[in-house]
Amino acid sequence: MAQAVKRLYPDIKLAIGPSIEDGFYYDFDSPQPFTEEDLPKIEAEMSKIIKENYKFEKSALKKDEALKLFKKMGEPYKVEMIEALPDNEVSIYKDGDFTDLCKGPHIDSTGEVKAFKLLSIAGAYWHGDEKNKMLQRIYGTAFETKAELDAHLTKLEEAKKRDHRKLGKELELFMIEEKAGAGLVIYQPKGALLRTIIEDWEKKEHLRRGYQIVIGPHILKSDIWVESGHYGYYKENMYIFQVEGQEYAIKPMNCPAHMLIYRSKTRSYKDLPIRYFELGSVYRNEKSGVLHGLLRVRGFTQDDAHIFCLREQAVDEIKGVIDFVAYALKVFGFSEFEVELSTKPDKYIGSDEDWEHATKALEDALKSKGLAYQIHEKEGAFYGPKIDIKLKDALGRAWQCATIQCDFALPQRFKLTYVGQDGKEYTPIMLHRVILGSMERFLGALIEHYGGAFPVWLSPTQVVIIPIADEHKEYAEKVAERLRENDIRVEIDGKNARMQHKIREAEVAKVPYMLIVGGKEAQAGAVSVRERSKGDLGQMKLDEFIGKITKEVVLSNSRQNRSG
Ligand code: ZN
Repeated sequence: MAQAVKRLYPDIKLAIGPSIEDGFYYDFDSPQPFTEEDLPKIEAEMSKIIKENYKFEKSALKKDEALKLFKKMGEPYKVEMIEALPDNEVSIYKDGDFTDLCKGPHIDSTGEVKAFKLLSIAGAYWHGDEKNKMLQRIYGTAFETKAELDAHLTKLEEAKKRDHRKLGKELELFMIEEKAGAGLVIYQPKGALLRTIIEDWEKKEHLRRGYQIVIGPHILKSDIWVESGHYGYYKENMYIFQVEGQEYAIKPMNCPAHMLIYRSKTRSYKDLPIRYFELGSVYRNEKSGVLHGLLRVRGFTQDDAHIFCLREQAVDEIKGVIDFVAYALKVFGFSEFEVELSTKPDKYIGSDEDWEHATKALEDALKSKGLAYQIHEKEGAFYGPKIDIKLKDALGRAWQCATIQCDFALPQRFKLTYVGQDGKEYTPIMLHRVILGSMERFLGALIEHYGGAFPVWLSPTQVVIIPIADEHKEYAEKVAERLRENDIRVEIDGKNARMQHKIREAEVAKVPYMLIVGGKEAQAGAVSVRERSKGDLGQMKLDEFIGKITKEVVLSNSRQNRSG
């Protein structure tokens, strides 16, 4: 691509062009910004270069020779990169009339490229620093066969259609307004309802598993954050402010209040484990450049819990959490997930011995569950090692959801104790854990996984009733009332429009069921049922339909019919 760009636009300067997951990009310093129309031209030139089938020849130059060469070629970015190289030997690749600085490896010749496509253009600062010049980046991808390329392009198209930012807007689920604050999510009625359905499910499932629901304040005095260590290790991510001369911080995590509840009275070993659960909203100071839809935000709510337990209870508690995660993912329609274990980072609190114990507890639980996992060195939180679980969506993409952290340090810092069998005081272990993780990110995953067509139990609107004419509105109201009595979420589309138009609108809104009601239905106490994407199911007695949809809802979100 760079060779083609240089042939077409000799004045352009080459910056850097690495391969990335699923493709490559190259940054160019161009006097004229590229437009979409340039891409086919560049592709055509690339095809010529492929046909001309140049061999890629590697050579090694001494640093001063390489500097001389690229200065002569008039490539200042290459000169800067060579100057920054630690070695005295510089690797160069040449093919035909084109020479580039490159570590390699390369395919043997340009003729080996069988299928490629340029995808997009974006601005990118040199070295990713906004104080530097804005360069022009072109993204592309290449595969060994046309079929593989086509499959990849189809997947990209599908991902674009499912983009949660686009669907969030179309389905009126949520909005993020620069004016109100970047990275701050405002839920519209349907999004708020969807989130409420998930939160209700969470509360029910936590109570079933012996958790107690607690609620902490959104701000706490800095004294508490000093005690927890967040002030020392996490301060740059926190929003800190003054109230009557006293410093406070908005909570970036929910742990401190839970520890204060634990500390509020004397605990015995017989009381443990204690499991506190909170749908806790937290705020973290993320840089505006990394914010992205619901995935990277500044304010989000976690399904957070802290489990206080004895050392010998830790492995069983972790296993219980893993089971909970597996169950939750199944209920929400995800069948695959990946597991990662993150170990001690460079900045940490607590003793090395405790870190080892904690890491082993997590590992033992994973092993006894027979789960495969990857180890991520030094990626743990500052207070303990952790297990991360990433769900795989319908397009095979991974999304971070659950985290389980084993923590010996914070209970010590907060002087949490329990009275042991021998009457002496000991420090409990604390597990920090989330199941779905950030509600915002999980909603993003759900939206993209289902492409907005949620299963019936999660759909904010489950049924749209469409009266055929004005005189059928009264019967439509009656049907709606019966459905609402059965906890079915229903809307009536009573506007003056053609029935086909209303059906189309309900399809676009991805509502699972449409009930068409006219004179015949009213007389028979029935409804004509259409199912999303399946079409006409014919006429049913109203009771029959209520039985059908109720069964569907109950089976999909409860432990009936599901194990684990
Ligand atoms: Zn925590």
